[in-house]
Amino acid sequence: MIRVRGLTKHFGAAPVLDGIDLDIADGERVVIIGPSGTGKSTLLRCLNFLDVPQAGVITIGDVTVDAAKARKADILALRRCTGMVFQNYGLFANKTAKENIMEALTTVQKRPRAEAEQRALAVLAETGLADKADSYPSALSGGQQQRVGIGRAMALGAELLLFDEPTSALDPEWVGEVLDLMRAVAERRQTMLIVTHEMQFAREIADRVLFMEGGKIVESGPPSQIFGAPQDARLRKFLQRVE
Ligand code: ATP
Ligand code: MG
Repeated sequence: MIRVRGLTKHFGAAPVLDGIDLDIADGERVVIIGPSGTGKSTLLRCLNFLDVPQAGVITIGDVTVDAAKARKADILALRRCTGMVFQNYGLFANKTAKENIMEALTTVQKRPRAEAEQRALAVLAETGLADKADSYPSALSGGQQQRVGIGRAMALGAELLLFDEPTSALDPEWVGEVLDLMRAVAERRQTMLIVTHEMQFAREIADRVLFMEGGKIVESGPPSQIFGAPQDARLRKFLQRVE
């Protein structure tokens, strides 16, 4: 289970995250929507300390980190509980699909190379990319690269998977296969926190939708409420623009 209290991040004077409180149950799929520049990416990045929050307490599984007194070992432990999928895939250009997936398994998780390789091949098979194991990212389509990115996150067996607009850099023709893979991940009751502009996908996959604006969670509820009966005027305005 994930528990966040008072998560606060400033890049200058104005807070980008303004004391975020958030609980996510095991197996829950939570989707974040909201206008550009609202802090959605920063929230995901603060949960694994890719951005360092100034204040807040984060619990993921049995790891708790208080930002005010975080030690390096705590941060590494927290990172091991998360896998992240990036908008621009974040693959190493000089490593094959298989090596990209092996990387975190051998470096972060310290698994033996042979075991990491087996795991990477198994995940590539699950993502429908068994025949691309030895391909470099430049030889893969955008959709295939992002499926490797998702496979890399899946391979970690992490408590929480974070997705930051995983389809927004893709040509439209590749969006479907990436969403299909995310649906397959969701079916395993994997806990997922997803930032997306794909509203139809959000409706379909989310147990709960969070609407963020100005560094705050302004409204939170099941898709039926958020899309069918939005309460907050800012959310109603946002939906008019994007739907
Ligand atoms: P988008 O929908 O465009 O991806 P977002 O909701 O993900 O937007 P963030 O990327 O979290 O928004 O950014 C929130 C705010 O923090 C923005 O005003 C942005 O300019 C600012 N910001 C983000 N990263 C940095 C940084 N490294 N240095 C300074 N300001 C930053
Ligand atoms: Mg963003």
